[in-house]
Amino acid sequence: IWKESDRLQMLIVDLLELSKIENAQFKLDLEDMSLKDITEDVFELVRGKAEEKGMHLHIQEQGSSVIEGDWQRLKQVVLNLVSNAISYTPSGGHVTVALKEQKDAVVLKVQDTGIGIDPKETLRIFERFYRVDRARSRNSGGTGLGLAIVKHLAEAHHAKIEVQSEEGKGTEFSLTFPKKQPSTL
Ligand code: ATP
Ligand code: MG
Repeated sequence: IWKESDRLQMLIVDLLELSKIENAQFKLDLEDMSLKDITEDVFELVRGKAEEKGMHLHIQEQGSSVIEGDWQRLKQVVLNLVSNAISYTPSGGHVTVALKEQKDAVVLKVQDTGIGIDPKETLRIFERFYRVDRARSRNSGGTGLGLAIVKHLAEAHHAKIEVQSEEGKGTEFSLTFPKKQPSTL
């Protein structure tokens, strides 16, 4: 019962957040910040869950990962992606956040060595409540809002999202953030 009520509470929090985001009833709180610092914060949050599952977490950084963004919102984005990577990867697997500076952008990749996603599903996973193979994911606790939130918050930051996945091998979510938000140029 406790587990169910926790899940319901999480669902309500996510739904409220998503409806605010979808209706553009929020403003980004912009500052210069490092995606590496955000990733370290997120790894701190998921450390317990990762250790329980014997997962290995890695950060790679090439150049500077500083962008203009909303710290809390981007932390949510990275947390949702890293949580998925941990959830959908068998015990003992690897989750890597790779950060790479480009001329006017920073690319953040969340890579895992997990179950992967059927190419036919890769567009639908960003829909609210959509979960691949409901039977398989029923036990893994989620509600299917995580990636809808990721998509909207990334788009609010003018980031481009790409997914590459191979079933049984792993998945890579790639977000390309402009270093400066167009509104403040
Ligand atoms: P929650 O709302 O708790 O995040 P969820 O994880 O099921 O629930 P999403 O994060 O939106 O929902 O993900 C949607 C679906 O996409 C998942 O149910 C899963 O089937 C698939 N998926 C997402 N990330 C991965 C991944 N890294 N590897 C394999 N499948 C994934
Ligand atoms: Mg999720």
